[in-house]
Amino acid sequence: MTDIVTIDCHYVLPQVAAAYLIRAGQSACFIDNNTNHAVPSLLAALTTAGYKPEDVTHIIITHVHLDHAGATGLLLSKCPNAVVVAHPRAAPHVINPTRLVESAKAVYGAEAFTKLYGEILPVPEARVYIPADGETLQVGDRELKFIYTRGHANHHFVILDQKSKSIFTGDSFGIAYPLLQHGSRPFLFPSTSPTDFDAGEARISYDKVLASGAERAYPTHFGAWNDIAAGYKMLMVAMDEIENLFNEIKGSDLEGDAAYKFTFSGFRRFFDRELAVRGIQLSAEEQTVLDMDIDLNAQGLAFAAQRARKKSKATG
Ligand SMILES: [Zn+2]
Repeated sequence: MTDIVTIDCHYVLPQVAAAYLIRAGQSACFIDNNTNHAVPSLLAALTTAGYKPEDVTHIIITHVHLDHAGATGLLLSKCPNAVVVAHPRAAPHVINPTRLVESAKAVYGAEAFTKLYGEILPVPEARVYIPADGETLQVGDRELKFIYTRGHANHHFVILDQKSKSIFTGDSFGIAYPLLQHGSRPFLFPSTSPTDFDAGEARISYDKVLASGAERAYPTHFGAWNDIAAGYKMLMVAMDEIENLFNEIKGSDLEGDAAYKFTFSGFRRFFDRELAVRGIQLSAEEQTVLDMDIDLNAQGLAFAAQRARKKSKATG
């Protein structure tokens, strides 16, 4: 049995969001946990891998966005010996999720929020561990190294498993849905979702993943990505286009909805073209998933560009 188990969290559709289970000798650990709705699948995967909830020593979250960390409190309540491992900027939000819930409701709308996530349970502070940037943690028979990565979110780190040369990248090394992988032209694209997106930092994060020596990346969306160098190139090229859009907004006087419409049509063009060159035809359902990303990417990029414009005006 493989030591890294990809668990389909059935977030909106199959193969959209994963959580990972690492088998580490006597211990097991989870990386990301999606939402409360995924907990039965997480525990079933644990059983299949030959572990009990008592064997889980670490519940690691790449960052605190709710499609990654929404089940942290509930999952911890099922795993009596586990600690939550989180970035210093993520930890306060797992301990007290109130603000996180409020801001997610602002992005998704209250009704959609409740349907997607249910109730977010807080985590006792005593059960949270915050690794430093570059720190290595012993988890069972493995050493996991934590590398802080900004660009997608300021509360993000990636996790390098030295033994399997695997790196768990959350949203710091793009999104790669299986439904978009097509023959010899696989497709990895950047996430620019609100509110921390920063193109320069995103590029630094791609550099860190490339330099880590890992042979395989595990983005949360979704499953193993086997060619890190090719993925790196794809992300860098896409980021050029995204920065062009960013600069157009920043240099314009577009605000609010007008700015969003501009970035939305930019991302729409990008995806239409990239799907066409791969000969990918999406079903209506699959298009809905991609539309969520186009919407979030457009929101995040429009927000970042307007913020940058304000900042440059303020500093003259
Ligand atoms: Zn995210």
